[in-house]
Amino acid sequence: MAKKNQNTFDPVCSFCGEVPSGDNLLVPSPIFGGAYICLDCVHRIDNMVSEFQNLEKAEASKAGAGKATRKDKGKIPTPREICAFLDEYVIGQEDAKKYLSVAVYNHYKRLAQDKDDVDIEKSNIIMVGPTGTGKTLLAKTIARQLDVPFAIVDATVLTEAGYVGEDIESLLVRLLQACDYDVAKAEKGIVFIDEIDKIARKSDNPSITRDVSGEGVQQGLLKLLEGSIVNVPPNGGRKHPEQKMIAVDTKNILFICGGAFDGIERKIAHRLNTHVVGFTGTDTRAKVDRENYLQYVAPQDLKSFGLIPEIIGRLPVLVHLDPLDREALLRVLTEPRNSIVKQYEKLFAMDGIRLEFAPETLEFIVDKAIEYKLGARGLRSIVETIMIDPMFESPSSKKKELVITREFAEEKLRNAYFNE
Ligand code: ADP
Repeated sequence: MAKKNQNTFDPVCSFCGEVPSGDNLLVPSPIFGGAYICLDCVHRIDNMVSEFQNLEKAEASKAGAGKATRKDKGKIPTPREICAFLDEYVIGQEDAKKYLSVAVYNHYKRLAQDKDDVDIEKSNIIMVGPTGTGKTLLAKTIARQLDVPFAIVDATVLTEAGYVGEDIESLLVRLLQACDYDVAKAEKGIVFIDEIDKIARKSDNPSITRDVSGEGVQQGLLKLLEGSIVNVPPNGGRKHPEQKMIAVDTKNILFICGGAFDGIERKIAHRLNTHVVGFTGTDTRAKVDRENYLQYVAPQDLKSFGLIPEIIGRLPVLVHLDPLDREALLRVLTEPRNSIVKQYEKLFAMDGIRLEFAPETLEFIVDKAIEYKLGARGLRSIVETIMIDPMFESPSSKKKELVITREFAEEKLRNAYFNE
């Protein structure tokens, strides 16, 4: 905070004319005696310079946009190829992989279509599944395969313009940052909006009170999802009136939304039961797998959960993810191309040490992840806890081989925070 100069002897910032206080400091000019600049002004200028540079980059990239489009044509991987690539990184989730592969394939065919052809509609995707089952991983892997810019945004930070939080446009800033402000690239990128369920309308009555982070945000998202030219502040944050903006066309940006939708199973179950009774009155209900209602998720369940119909309409590809069982978690540890076990083996190999996890150690790790209800997300932190001492000691030891036994893992976890 700064205050106006009360005492004529106090030095002031030559830019804003204020006497700095608190963390703010005055920096004297090395050339002109009596001239100062305060740190607040330095930060303001730094921000202006980077905004200006980002705008310049954006404009330069727009100038070369046509070339990039032509070069991109013709190398779209087929759905099978996309799926095979996903298989290398993601365990299980066969349904989701198939739907995603087709959606992404169609999306890129749509980009390559001739302008005056039949207009193929955008295939934005919504993934419904428990946390830690691979939603983010799937989206990230697709972006990696297609070599397009990718940004992950958490829907919970978004609010309606004018409220505390981030403007909806801020999610495009992340995409621009991911490709160093190459607008043409960003306009073909993928945005993953996580926790989309958190902006569901809280009640079925739309307007009792103002719903700052619910329906208003959904309305704001609509224009991004359906494709429009959006003015993005170069450095993100809140827009201000005289600011220059980067125009980004979202028409060809693929939006993938994900959410756990806690409690949606009840709505699905309710729908299935009423329908069965209503239509047949026979034993069809027995065919419903009650262990996993999520596999039957339909757009009307998202509506009952609190997504507005317009948003659901803009997310035409609806996929579910299955919870990961013990066997799947074991596979997650070892099978993916950059599985946790492979990563540790590589870390040790770089020190010339052959690392091996005994099979019963892996089972122990999985059982702990299940016990602590951490799912796949917890596997890494458990392994990290077990491996901290070996990682500390091994580089300075002469041993060239290390086997992690179950007893060793049990002891390490017993001493760690997991037992609290
Ligand atoms: P979420 O569904 O909450 O977005 P993530 O994709 O972020 O979950 O998964 C968290 C971590 O768990 C990933 O980084 C990955 O290591 C692991 N993981 C989760 N699901 C899978 C899966 N199906 N196959 C391989 N690894 C997975």
